[in-house]
Amino acid sequence: MEIKIPNEVMELIGKRGIKEDDVKDVIETAESSNKKIVMGNRNLAKKIIGQATVYVDYELEKGLLKKHATVKSAYSHRLMLGEIVNATDKSDWVCAHCNEPALYGHVAMTYMQVTRNGPAVVCPKCKDSWVEEYLATKTLAAVEGLFEKKRA
Ligand SMILES: [Zn+2]
Repeated sequence: MEIKIPNEVMELIGKRGIKEDDVKDVIETAESSNKKIVMGNRNLAKKIIGQATVYVDYELEKGLLKKHATVKSAYSHRLMLGEIVNATDKSDWVCAHCNEPALYGHVAMTYMQVTRNGPAVVCPKCKDSWVEEYLATKTLAAVEGLFEKKRA
């Protein structure tokens, strides 16, 4: 497995406090377990590392001897994803593990002992869920900030 992280992506994930080793860990775990969602040759995988759930968005090419992954982005959130609340709308994502279409829906999200429903991509079959980048970096980051402020 060869993992390429372009310079501009290294810069972005550095700002987000994500380490290169975390990115490799997420991809290697996803590729060995096949737990990820895919859209064409785009892959979205996640792993809980420390206090955060780290996501890596990457493209995969199968070479003759090994797979090559090119990292497009990485991000994280601190809310913990729980049970699927609903799965309502079609998405273009496919759960690689189940080989079933993943849906847009809502998942119970817990942070600082408070649980709320939030939007996510879900697989009704294996009950796993993923938060896309714009939601994690905008909406969830704002919610986490609010909770931290209330607690402070
Ligand atoms: Zn699944």
